[in-house]
This record gives sequence, C-alpha cells and structure tokens, in this order.
Amino acid sequence: MTRSGPFSPAADSAQKDLTALGEFGLIERLFATLPQKAPGVTLGIGDDAAIVDIPPGQELLTTTDTLVEGIHFRADCDPYLLGQKSLRVNLSDIAAMGGEPLWYLLSFSAGAQTKLHWVEAFARGLGDAGEAFGLTLIGGDTVGSRGGISLTITLMGLVPKGQAVRRSGAQVGDLIYLSGTIGDAALGYAGKREWFDDEQDWLYLQDRLNRPQPRVELGQLLRERGLAHAMLDVSDGLVADLGHLCKASNMGAEIHTEKLPLSPPVRALLTERGDEILQLILTGGEDYELLFTAPHSARKELAKMATHASISLADVGRMVLDGSGLSLFQSGTPLDVGKGGWRHF
Ligand code: ADP
Ligand code: MG
Repeated sequence: MTRSGPFSPAADSAQKDLTALGEFGLIERLFATLPQKAPGVTLGIGDDAAIVDIPPGQELLTTTDTLVEGIHFRADCDPYLLGQKSLRVNLSDIAAMGGEPLWYLLSFSAGAQTKLHWVEAFARGLGDAGEAFGLTLIGGDTVGSRGGISLTITLMGLVPKGQAVRRSGAQVGDLIYLSGTIGDAALGYAGKREWFDDEQDWLYLQDRLNRPQPRVELGQLLRERGLAHAMLDVSDGLVADLGHLCKASNMGAEIHTEKLPLSPPVRALLTERGDEILQLILTGGEDYELLFTAPHSARKELAKMATHASISLADVGRMVLDGSGLSLFQSGTPLDVGKGGWRHF
C-alpha cells in the first residue's frame, strides 16, 4: 500500500486505507489530537477509562446517537459535514434538558478498505463542532467492520441537581413555544432544486439539514430562569415529538398551523404548493429546534429573553386536558391527524 515519492498528506491519504494507520494510529493521529475545550477532564484518551470531575451540586446528563451507513447517511456523503452533524444532534439532546454539554465518546467502526481521507475529514468535522461548542473527546472505541461505517457518539453534560427540564412537566393551559423555524431540514431533504428560483434559498435549506444549530444557550437560559415546564428537541418532526411530550405529560395539545415559525423559502413554498409542504413541515424531522411549554405569565420574560439571545420564539398553541391527544387547526378548521381525513400522514 505504501508508495514512494514526495510526501503530500492530501494525495497520500486519498490513496491510503485504514490499514496504513491501524487502530492505534487512527486514535493517536486523528482522534486524540482533536481540540480539547471542556473543563473537568481529570484523565482523557489513553487509559482504560476516562475520569471527569462532577462538581458538587451538579448531576451528569448522558445521551447517545448511532449513525449507520446506508441508513442514516450515504456512503458518498460529505464526511466533514457528517462529523459536524453527528455531534450537533447529540448537543441538541443536552440542550433540550437545559444542560451544559462538555465531554464525548466516539465509537468508530469501519471496514479496512475505508479511505483514510474520509476519516480525516470526518474527524475534522467532529473537531470543529466540538471546538465551537466547547467540548472534549475523552475516549471511545475503534473497531473493524465487515459492513459499512457505523458511528456512535455519547455526549455528557452537567446540570444543577434536580433542575433538568423533562418532557413530563407540562401543565394544562401552558403555551407551546418553538425556537427558530421548522420544516427547513425536511424541505432541504425532500425538496427539489427546481422548486427554488433563488439558489441561495436552496443552499440555506441544505445548510439547515447538514449543520443543525443545537440551541444550547437557549436551553440553559430557559432552565436557569425556570421558564419552561417541559421541553424536548424536534428531531423526529413536530407531530411525533409533541406527541412524545403530550404522552410524558399525560395531556393533549392544540397547534395552530398559521402560527408555525417558517423561514422565507419554506413560507413561499407553502403558499405555492399547499398541503404537500404543510405535511413536510408538520412531520419532517431534523430541525433540532427546541419545543417547550411555559405558563402564560412567562410571556413577557420570554420575549425579552428571545431578544437578548437573538433567537425567535413562536407561540404555536397550548396544552389542553387529555382526551384528543394532539389537535391541529388550520385557520380555525381542524385537521384530522392520522384518522384518514389527513391522509398524507
Ligand atoms: P481498551 O482496549 O482498554 O478498551 P482501547 O485500546 O480500545 O482500550 O482504547 C485505548 C484508548 O483510546 C482508550 O482511552 C479509549 O477510550 C481511546 N479510544 C479508542 N477509540 C477511540 C476513538 N474512536 N475516539 C476517541 N478515543 C478512543
Ligand atoms: Mg477497546
């Protein structure tokens, strides 16, 4: 496999596969060298287990996500963006608890024929996202595979004891809020380039799909100020995720579709193509915005906080007594979710 001639890292790794570095070479060269930004790491990569310091009065949050080639990403995807996204989706889960993300583990499994430059680009994506959010990679596992590539990231964070914001705390009458805009990632995935006159709109939606913005700061602010009764991140789509919150809180919800926060390209598409787009907005996932419930009395403070944190917060409905689960209204008219009338679902 090795070739003689002048050393050129890019050309070199474009040819080489993982046998060129081996398991420990990969760990030492690609993973152990990533930026280390988080405090509290007593012992990082290199021993049998990592040691992190949990300050008194704090508790540990942990979350994990696995991405499998052929299921969650295609073999020809951009590995740099995949590295970014694999960390960002985990960050969103810590954000949704109101926690501070700090440390992560990476389990990396790939066939020996995987190109080294693919893993280098993946590691760069991971490192850049880790640096942007102040994280440190503290360990993991590196193993061979006979199938495709599989990636598991486990992210840990801290939250003051007893203060994590759960899905189960909603109260009847709470307003339902969404951060940012929804439907962007679904349109970036299922939309077609020719639907957009302006290429910038298409690129914006691609960026929303590939580089989600975990709302870490917002999640912490909501938790610190005690404004959110219940919270989760919208990863599986608004209908599915709000359904989870309703179930955990044992109540129902009403959503008014005309109040949904939409980006200009998604709003334009909705006007042009109607139901087909509304369905994607309601059920498409991967926006990684925060959905939370808050009492009516928090309205003013939330508005102030949104301005301060430069993020939009839209009130899209309210929590109601259980009975009908999730009800959707379009300009006052009920939409029948999953009961035949709204047959797109
Ligand atoms: P063990 O055999 O004791 O499980 P390993 O040989 O698998 O240890 O790993 C050696 C060290 O490298 C450990 O500290 C482990 O956490 C770290 N490590 C292994 N794979 C990765 C990876 N993909 N990313 C970060 N650290 C890793
Ligand atoms: Mg091991």
